[in-house]
Amino acid sequence: MAETTQLACRCGRTKLAVEGAPIASVECCCSSCREAGQRLHRLEGAPDVLTDYGATPFVMYRKDRVRFIAGAEGLQAFRLKPDASTQRVIAGCCNTPVYLEFKGGHWLSLYGALWPEGTLPPPQMRTMASDLPDGMTLPDYIPNAKTQNFGFFARLLGAWAAMGFRSPKMPKTEEINV
Ligand SMILES: [Zn+2]
Ligand SMILES: [Zn+2]
Repeated sequence: MAETTQLACRCGRTKLAVEGAPIASVECCCSSCREAGQRLHRLEGAPDVLTDYGATPFVMYRKDRVRFIAGAEGLQAFRLKPDASTQRVIAGCCNTPVYLEFKGGHWLSLYGALWPEGTLPPPQMRTMASDLPDGMTLPDYIPNAKTQNFGFFARLLGAWAAMGFRSPKMPKTEEINV
């Protein structure tokens, strides 16, 4: 049986479980993730999801391997722009960022900050490194792809094929502005 990992928001009222291994563990260096991280951090009690060098760690899971156990009704969605196809969802109880979702996507990018210290699946690559501000240097113990590289898309596609090319629905969320 696949191993289940229990995750929770900071205050513990929103609980979820992820099943088995992730599609990938990554650090996104794109400007949108950085801006979102900074804006969401302004919310009361919100944790800082960015690394020292401004990247956002994400653990990507198939949607059918993510299950909300408690607090799904309190999730709130935030978009950088009203027409953005990407939404970032936070736990309304304590403003903990929970996941990023692309419209119609078959996976969720769960915020690495949800994993208790020392348990985060080690990142395998960084993406969008070309978006980092000038002069910012990245640790080089994992590949630093300038954009989204081929290996990244191959993993996503492989996971979608295994799902029979379906995209499960996620809980309904209220929209917020930050
Ligand atoms: Zn909470
Ligand atoms: Zn990003």
